[in-house]
Amino acid sequence: MAKNYYNILGVSKNATQDEIKKAFRKLAHQCHPDKKGGDEAKFKEVNEAYQALGNPEKRKQYDQFGQTFGQGARPGGFGGMNWEDFARASGGGGQSQQSANFDFGDLGDMFGDLFGFGRSGGARRTRRSTRGNDIQAEMAIDFREAAFGTEKFIDLYKQNTCSKCSGNGAEPGTKIDICPTCQGSGQVQQVQRTILGSFQSVGICPECHGEGKKATKKCRHCGGDGRIKENEKFKVKIPAGINNGETIRLAYKGEAGARGGQAGDLFITMKVKQDPEFKRDDDNILSEVDVSFSQAALGDKISVNTLDGEIKLKIPSGTQSGKLFKLKEKGVPHLRSRGRGDHLVTVNVITPDNLTKQQKKLFEELANT
Ligand SMILES: [Zn+2]
Ligand SMILES: [Zn+2]
Repeated sequence: MAKNYYNILGVSKNATQDEIKKAFRKLAHQCHPDKKGGDEAKFKEVNEAYQALGNPEKRKQYDQFGQTFGQGARPGGFGGMNWEDFARASGGGGQSQQSANFDFGDLGDMFGDLFGFGRSGGARRTRRSTRGNDIQAEMAIDFREAAFGTEKFIDLYKQNTCSKCSGNGAEPGTKIDICPTCQGSGQVQQVQRTILGSFQSVGICPECHGEGKKATKKCRHCGGDGRIKENEKFKVKIPAGINNGETIRLAYKGEAGARGGQAGDLFITMKVKQDPEFKRDDDNILSEVDVSFSQAALGDKISVNTLDGEIKLKIPSGTQSGKLFKLKEKGVPHLRSRGRGDHLVTVNVITPDNLTKQQKKLFEELANT
């Protein structure tokens, strides 16, 4: 791993998304280049770390591969925009035209209280509210369920698409009109006032949330939101080979978006219970088996319990205590490829105690040979 993003943000690997966000905000404010004692290099580094860890999907990629893929992961950028660009766009002449594809995403969050936009409504907030929220959940599964996969029910209390209006927010049988505020364009001109001066921007229409249309009569069931908060129970397929702490993503199984907006995703992190007999090391299974002094000395065929049940293992004569035997492909199925891990058995040779008279005599004879 090139950089440890968790260390940069000062959070643990198990930190929640909320904790990561909080840590990022605090650090971003501390080392902001415009502040006394600010540190631009550190600021960029913090931003880079947050680009990876602030997004559950990218975080998963980072956890798995030590890097992230796809858009917005460019180092030092706010989804492609760096600090200098931002300063140029918002400062300078005091009044500047803002380009339409300016992404307020995390900028708004971060500079909200510095520059006076962000939290208090405006384009970013309304646009965000259209897509449903992602949901983070945990699920406890047994050791063997993790190894071989299973299906489990999950019960979530969340925003679901309103069944009466199918999510469009209009009372059934009533019309959906062009939005009078933006005349259907979904956008309105707005002036942002910042400490660097005010500048004009094109924002999402607050009346129709950028959709350009509006229900003439709001659905009575959901109040026009297109969503109802309720319990939903559904089956989740858990793939064979998943390990403790790993997360599966179910696209669009998060909260429904407002008025038919895209649903968020559901992320389920697996809590795999321990097994009394087996330990897991990646996809290998580790266990121990006891053999007697004479079995070890003379060799034997012994029974070993594996995930597939008992199998016979031949141990050669002269086996030392602590010797490891590999049972190929008897471990956990690989999650992302064919095949399985191995089962590694450690043989413990039990030195006899409480010898009978006869046994004692035999050992003494043995000692004299
Ligand atoms: Zn409805
Ligand atoms: Zn509108």
